[in-house]
Amino acid sequence: MKIAIAGAGVAGSYLANLLQKDGHKVEVFESSKRENHWAVCAWGASHHMLEKFSEKAGLNFGEYIYHVGRVLKMQLPDNKSEQLYLNGLVTYNKQKWESDLLEGIKLTYGSKCTSATFPFDKYDYVIDCTGLHRTLLPKSKDDFVIPAYEYFVENIHDMEEFYVIGYKGARGYFWYFPLDNGRGFVGAGDIDKKYYGIDDFFKLHPEARIIRKIGRPIRLAPPKRMEPFYHRNIIGVGESIGCVFPMLGEGIIPSLLCCNIFLEVFTKNQNRFDFEQYRKKILKRFEYYDDVYRIVRLKMAGKLNTIRHIKLLMSMYRNMKKEEQRFGFEISFEKMRRLVNAL
Ligand SMILES: Cc1cc2nc3c(=O)[nH]c(=O)nc-3n(C[C@H](O)[C@H](O)[C@H](O)COP(=O)(O)OP(=O)(O)OC[C@H]3O[C@@H](n4cnc5c(N)ncnc54)[C@H](O)[C@@H]3O)c2cc1C
Repeated sequence: MKIAIAGAGVAGSYLANLLQKDGHKVEVFESSKRENHWAVCAWGASHHMLEKFSEKAGLNFGEYIYHVGRVLKMQLPDNKSEQLYLNGLVTYNKQKWESDLLEGIKLTYGSKCTSATFPFDKYDYVIDCTGLHRTLLPKSKDDFVIPAYEYFVENIHDMEEFYVIGYKGARGYFWYFPLDNGRGFVGAGDIDKKYYGIDDFFKLHPEARIIRKIGRPIRLAPPKRMEPFYHRNIIGVGESIGCVFPMLGEGIIPSLLCCNIFLEVFTKNQNRFDFEQYRKKILKRFEYYDDVYRIVRLKMAGKLNTIRHIKLLMSMYRNMKKEEQRFGFEISFEKMRRLVNAL
């Protein structure tokens, strides 16, 4: 089959690698220029999962790991603090991981695909892996994104763990994710674009040197609210169809899980894509993300009540507990309830 992939992010690179290995003729189009292309993200995810995805694509994940987390330290409003014990959460060189996946694949940088100009007829299938942009699929009426930005910094030697800070009145949170040799990502997502915590960080760390400023919003609307997943011969995979865990804005593993569903459907039906089967599998796999999304929106509107909305919270807890390894940190109902209340 002749397959075009728009977007060389995590979903596009992984799919391109596996589809080419399967004997398809794959071409990838990436809007940014080669010298500017950057894996926008804080590069944190569970190594249990990334090891499996890497193995499937012929990479050794161990070679990409920067930092193996022990605890995630959370500072909450009113001087409260909490620690989550980590079991697999790491930061890794996502930029290199994606670039290695694309080795030997026909890739055109600086090529911005649009639905008006893309030569759809030249391909059997065109995959929209443009993430937040969702450039080739029709827009969704229920979309919801949260503004975010971060700095790639170096010369930080007193923060060797993952940090998350929640500020009173903030509708988002601050993070610090350590990489290697004093480097890390400092960032914040905030619906009101106030980005609490970033200025404090630089005041507390005048020695910090900024390597790069990066930013783009993160999609929080889950798959249930991001239909259609396909249109003519275009199929959406990854963040373009809402595969992001809404509570954390965490999209690496969900996007890769989405790729696996795509590949499963694609190969099962002798490479004739069963659009409806794909749709059903995505909706089922990410069903509980909608409950999580509702919690996030209620919280943002100041309407979340941990007693009245106990069903939603229990759904989030039960489902997260079932896939604790995939998150890479302990899942405890009491901690989750306290965090949701405090953040
Ligand atoms: C600041 C920030 C920090 C984050 N931190 C984490 C984290 O630590 N852990 C985690 O799990 N998730 C994190 N996320 C979310 C995660 O990065 C994304 O959900 C994930 O990368 C989505 O993968 P994707 O392949 O679907 O899209 P992306 O990785 O966004 O890739 C999309 C690609 O498409 C390209 N593109 C866009 N438009 C076009 C076009 N018209 N034509 C051609 N190419 C195009 C883009 O340049 C990009 O290369 C973070 C997100 C942000 C913004």
